[in-house]
Amino acid sequence: MSKTYNIVTFGCQMNEHDSENIAGMLENMGYIKNEERNSADVAIINTCSIRENADKRFFGTLGQLKKVKENNPQFVVAVCGCMMQQQHIVDKIKKTYPWVDLVFGTHNIHEFPKLLDNVVNEHKKIIDVWDTAGDIIEGLPIKRVYNFKSYVNITYGCNNFCTYCIVPYTRGRERSRKPADIIGEIKKLVKSGVKEVTLLGQNVNSYGKNSDFRELFSDNVDFADLIMEIDRSTGIKRLKFMTSHPKDLSDKLIATYGMANSLCNSIHLPVQSGSSEVLKRMNRRYSREDYMTLIKKLRKVSPNIAITTDIIVGFPGESEENFMETMDLVEKVRFDSAFTFLYSIRKGTPAAEYENQIPEKIKHERFNMLVERMNQITMEINRTYVGKEELVLVEGESKRNSMFQTGRTGSGKIVNFRAGRDLKGEIVAVKIVESNTFSLIGELL
Ligand code: SF4
Repeated sequence: MSKTYNIVTFGCQMNEHDSENIAGMLENMGYIKNEERNSADVAIINTCSIRENADKRFFGTLGQLKKVKENNPQFVVAVCGCMMQQQHIVDKIKKTYPWVDLVFGTHNIHEFPKLLDNVVNEHKKIIDVWDTAGDIIEGLPIKRVYNFKSYVNITYGCNNFCTYCIVPYTRGRERSRKPADIIGEIKKLVKSGVKEVTLLGQNVNSYGKNSDFRELFSDNVDFADLIMEIDRSTGIKRLKFMTSHPKDLSDKLIATYGMANSLCNSIHLPVQSGSSEVLKRMNRRYSREDYMTLIKKLRKVSPNIAITTDIIVGFPGESEENFMETMDLVEKVRFDSAFTFLYSIRKGTPAAEYENQIPEKIKHERFNMLVERMNQITMEINRTYVGKEELVLVEGESKRNSMFQTGRTGSGKIVNFRAGRDLKGEIVAVKIVESNTFSLIGELL
């Protein structure tokens, strides 16, 4: 009988993509997926360190595995991801969670089969976390979650050091993949039936800027060039990207919205705060005015572009006035939607040491006010879709009602509609007949 694995993934798309690689390596080793974690032979937890909540959930999950290990000593517990790049976390695991068999980090995922083999066959406990990233490893096995949409990494790591963020410490310096490797991967995906590709990186806009890239491959390619080349040569139907740092959103990149046919009419552009003073202390390196200028430029090239964002509420020292500037910016930009977060201290980041941490009560009050207004705006924008015809990439049966199919427009809106058969993976025309805060209802044309 084949051995089985179960992977739990916390955090961002980058982690989800890493988990697809881990699943690919396991399947190459003969393991098969098991939806029931407690009856699997190997459980892997891929962690995220971006917010306190993800830390808590990780340790909660790890705690639940103690009993499973006691009942089945052969059960292998492996942990990886961003949290493992922090020494205090590894120390805590060693001290408090001795049932963990394998700890590895973000820089040596490709070593996972060898490490697992040692754990299983040599009955060793292994902690192997690399401090720095080596070369980008191409061609790792991959077991993709979807066969009609895919993530494709174009950069790894980050050089920006926003003062609240742990990522540059856990994912290392920024590195770009060679254009030919990216194009080759997308061509293969298209051939296998993939309709939508999301280019991934902590800051895709600075693709090709790091010095290693220039030295190694003399290609003078920036992110706008890469988009145009993917659009021209791969045959992909829908192209998206994330995440896009406002300070590196060039005019040339904005212009691709008017030129690349496959580029979806949407952008996720994290603003984080509407106050230039707060942005400065976050080390974001753009002002409120710079951000507003980018929005104007984007809407000039593409008037109906859907703009989504991230906003942090309660950054240290955020005054009532600073917060009201965020509320005002939300009003002026009218984002299609916003991911709103309460600031949480991340050990090892500069902002963790800042004075004037905001009391939880005030953070929550501000957060609730922002979410309430944002939801109204999202609902108002969704209402403007009623009566329009949209192309929807179908993701399958709706979880709430099996008579309905669910999918997304190019602008990222969720659309539910009745269909007589499973249309998963197809792009279909739908007329929008009703709108809700977080989704649209349509009729298949
Ligand atoms: S750009 Fe800033 S927020 Fe994004 S990963 Fe880098 S440091 Fe973190």
